[in-house]
Amino acid sequence: MKKPHDHTVLVVDDSPENLDLIKNILEPYYTVKVAPTGSLALLIARAQQPDLILLDIMLEDINGYDICLQLKSDDQTRNIPVIFLTAKRSEADEVHGFKIGGCDYITKPFSPAVMLARIKTQIQLKVKTDLLEKLASLDGLTEIPNRRAFDTAFERQVNQAQRTATPLSLLILDIDNFKLFNDHYGHPMGDDCLKQVANSFIAHTQRPGDLVARLGGEEFAILLPNTDNTGATLRAEHYRAVVENLKIQHAADSPLPYVTVSVGVGTVIAHNSDHLSDLFQATDNALYLAKKQGRNRVCCENLSPDAL
Ligand code: GH3
Ligand code: MG
Ligand code: MG
Repeated sequence: MKKPHDHTVLVVDDSPENLDLIKNILEPYYTVKVAPTGSLALLIARAQQPDLILLDIMLEDINGYDICLQLKSDDQTRNIPVIFLTAKRSEADEVHGFKIGGCDYITKPFSPAVMLARIKTQIQLKVKTDLLEKLASLDGLTEIPNRRAFDTAFERQVNQAQRTATPLSLLILDIDNFKLFNDHYGHPMGDDCLKQVANSFIAHTQRPGDLVARLGGEEFAILLPNTDNTGATLRAEHYRAVVENLKIQHAADSPLPYVTVSVGVGTVIAHNSDHLSDLFQATDNALYLAKKQGRNRVCCENLSPDAL
């Protein structure tokens, strides 16, 4: 049986002969998708996430430059490399192609060997860039999303909540008396505990849109889009119980026998943008209250009374 190829190339050209020709050149090395129109190309790019797009400029419906601009302005497709493949040979055309985000420019008639080499270079570069981006957003110890990933997601969710007028909730979870734990068992065991707690949060995440991140130290955040205060408080109580039920023995002189977390809950609904930016601070205040009231508990701060 033929081994499936690792990477997919989308070829966009309005001439069926060209599509056939290019398909034949690429097929020994790549999975090839073809689109004879710009609108179909955009649909395929979004739905199937090809690793590279080979884009003709003169199409019947949308011009190739406009397709490139649309791809580069959409979060879902902006990282897909675009190589222009075109009969437009002027320097100005070529410069324009690079200016709007194309990564290479091949003029027709082209050499199949050179085209293959250029595609290979761009796909190798994309694989490396994707890996770097992934590593840069993961916490080195627990391998869950880090503070940077959280900040990006938080900003996106605040905007989304504002656009759709839906409630947005945030949990901040902090391990109780963790300094005592480290002092008693040592730093490596502390690290191990952090990994166990992080994994238990990930394992108990319900919706694909919920994001668990390590903010730093022994502090975690869970972002709950489209979740009201009642729902978020239930989730917070669930995560609190999950950690307690791990039954990780705490230091002998700790006030609690097992490792536990205190949880602050914050909710906003977007009537005005000031409230949204207050969400993090309000949630942190709620966490402070939970600590003050004795730890291993959930406290709430609701910035929008109608988000209950
Ligand atoms: P509280 O209940 O008020 O949160 O008390 P706490 O002791 O948990 O809080 P504090 O901020 O005083 O101490 C946090 C401790 O977490 C300090 C440090 O020993 C530990 N810690 C922070 N980051 C790491 C880490 O990456 N690995 C390990 N093993 N320990 C860490
Ligand atoms: Mg702590
Ligand atoms: Mg802390």
